[in-house]
Amino acid sequence: MPDVTPRLRKRIVDALVQCGMTKKDATICEKSIYANFPSDYCIVAYEKIGQLKSGTPSQHVLQDIKKKIKGWGSHVYNPIKNTYENRIFQDNTKIKPVKGMYKCKNKECGSDEFYIWNETRRSGDEGQATIRQCSKCGKRGREN
Ligand SMILES: [Zn+2]
Repeated sequence: MPDVTPRLRKRIVDALVQCGMTKKDATICEKSIYANFPSDYCIVAYEKIGQLKSGTPSQHVLQDIKKKIKGWGSHVYNPIKNTYENRIFQDNTKIKPVKGMYKCKNKECGSDEFYIWNETRRSGDEGQATIRQCSKCGKRGREN
């Protein structure tokens, strides 16, 4: 496991940007990883880069990071949280949820409003998969 040096941290931010995150999102994402996963920093960071590369939208990557952060309710995270929530709002105005096409399989949810996007694959031989994520509970499904 390489040490988490400022140089490595900068490289992670650059890699996140290259994979399609805005500089601002990449910085939030990297800071959250650094603060919350000190011993698994590289694993988590590369996992997130991998997700972006495979076409996962940046707001879902950030959301996933948020879910994993212990004590996210603490006021310590307010500055990051505010930036993050603003960003989610902005992203949601770009990807509009689609109503009535799918029904959420989470019985406690049952919503019919989903974010839908295509996952792009490097190998290409399996074609494109369509990913859907419930706008209410976040449950995901896929179709090849
Ligand atoms: Zn749902």
